Amino acid sequence: MVETLDGCRWLYNHFLSKDLSKEDLQFALTELKEHKPWLRNYHSKMLQMVIHKIDSARKALTTLRKKGYKTGKSYYLTHEKYNSFTYNQSGFRIQRHGKTDLLWLSNIGYIAIRLHRPVKNIKQITICRRIDKWYAFVCCELSKPIFKFLNPNKSIGIDVGITKFIHDSDNLAIENPLFLNKIVKPLKRSSRKMARRKKGSQNHKKAKTRLQILHERIRNKRNDFLHKISSYYSKQYDVVFLERLHVLNMVKNSYLARYILDSGWRKFKQLLEYKAKMIVEVEPKNTTINCHRCGNKVPKTLAIRIHKCDVCGLAIDRDYNASMNILQGGLLLLPVVRREFTPVEIECRSKKQENIGFPIDSRVLFKPFQ
Ligand SMILES: [Zn+2]
Repeated sequence: MVETLDGCRWLYNHFLSKDLSKEDLQFALTELKEHKPWLRNYHSKMLQMVIHKIDSARKALTTLRKKGYKTGKSYYLTHEKYNSFTYNQSGFRIQRHGKTDLLWLSNIGYIAIRLHRPVKNIKQITICRRIDKWYAFVCCELSKPIFKFLNPNKSIGIDVGITKFIHDSDNLAIENPLFLNKIVKPLKRSSRKMARRKKGSQNHKKAKTRLQILHERIRNKRNDFLHKISSYYSKQYDVVFLERLHVLNMVKNSYLARYILDSGWRKFKQLLEYKAKMIVEVEPKNTTINCHRCGNKVPKTLAIRIHKCDVCGLAIDRDYNASMNILQGGLLLLPVVRREFTPVEIECRSKKQENIGFPIDSRVLFKPFQ
């Protein structure tokens, strides 16, 4: 697999500087095989995917430029940066031999794998090296579910925050685990260690791997957390309303930046986008200060955790109030739904569901505000 990576990387770098279209590159590849017979040792569809990789990298750059972003140019990839190759349509097989699952790859051979779930209708397999481990990403074709109608009673407003990752309009709160925050000390120690060692030496390499593994662990934990929550919301609800977040503006506050980036809200939104039946973004204007019951404005600083309305006498958690505002603001965006569904009904529903079960560790649950 390392050899295959190296071969692909050579091809990638070789073709990168050539100013040819995708079709011309494919033609060039057939010609190149005459001069470099060692290329025939690799599965030909896989080599074509390298061209596809170059092509999509170029397209991504052009789209960014069109949108007005400043872009650099694509650069040659080093041994460390080139980490994956793809088998498209053919050249792979997953089979069982006794108690072990085997992955067969053309021109590589059999590899024992840990299969996470049964797969069928495989369209593509990507082999990826992540520091010290190898992963196979399996792409399958599924029959597409068709949603005939969305039930507006199954909608939810979600408010995201720093201390609590989520407080939703059914009064469920989930603590923010802040994975990076917990591991800041070992990270700092590890990067100091790397900095002390001579660049290019074997010990420097070891320290670097150690640091990368730490980062990888945080990433895995965070992804696991985000996947579980986003799955929960997309299974329980038809429509999810979210605040439109301006993460880049928020990060300018350097004290909060680490916490905000550590939370992974953007990733959470991305996951919901492909899992949930429908997500709607709501402008966050006044969601924290408006009283969701009577519309009275109650200004508060970050430190005040309770929303207390003098006009209607409502006293609830500030994030709960915000999520109710998001839900109501979102429902206004769906004109058809409005007639059948008023905010009063939402309140009744949320009281019934107060003690909702949650698949995540019970530690992360907040008690509903009394
Ligand atoms: Zn009020």
